[in-house]
Amino acid sequence: MDHLRQVLLRWYEANGRSFPWRDEGRSPYELIVTEVLLQRTRAGVVGEFWGGFFQAYPDWCKLAAATQEELSFFLRPLGLWRRRADTLRHLAQVMVCRRGCWPKQRDDLEDLPGVGQYIANAALLLCHDERHPLLDTNMARLLERYFGSRKLADIRDDPYLQELAYRLVRCGEPKAVNWAVLDYAAMVCRPRNPECQDCQARGRCEYAMNT
Ligand code: SF4
Repeated sequence: MDHLRQVLLRWYEANGRSFPWRDEGRSPYELIVTEVLLQRTRAGVVGEFWGGFFQAYPDWCKLAAATQEELSFFLRPLGLWRRRADTLRHLAQVMVCRRGCWPKQRDDLEDLPGVGQYIANAALLLCHDERHPLLDTNMARLLERYFGSRKLADIRDDPYLQELAYRLVRCGEPKAVNWAVLDYAAMVCRPRNPECQDCQARGRCEYAMNT
């Protein structure tokens, strides 16, 4: 695990992508809404849309006051606009009632509209600096290629994958490791044609050793 983490962090330092939501000092509002925007959407697409969105909706109050039609129209370039508009409006309405106070406990987080395991982990990692993995299909692919396949279909329920993901981010730079995985999975350990010949992890990677 240490070897894989070091490879990822070294690579990220030289090649990691820069996005506005990774800048220091972003508010919980910006961080969490961004995670909703990133769901099933390429980060580059969200990057182009990001500035305009937060200019139009700079806080929970503005977002809560938006109509479903207005927000759906605004979100069209990202796809899944109706579902996303619905989630964001309901979340914003709850957050206005909570006076913008973002919960610190997982159970309370997962009670919020549109917040499942992934966004709860993102909130604990990004807003509270806790060591949680952004375990999605990309992180799962990289971990499974390197260590071997999971047993259960659903990432959220698979104890083997969950354990690997938590071990990976158990270090002094959990945010950087998570972002390194996202970028590495998008640019090197891609779903198709991973660039194993250029990957510094190939010597210990199950996938590379068996193909
Ligand atoms: S060797 Fe290939 S499959 Fe293994 S981590 Fe690197 S890019 Fe991914």
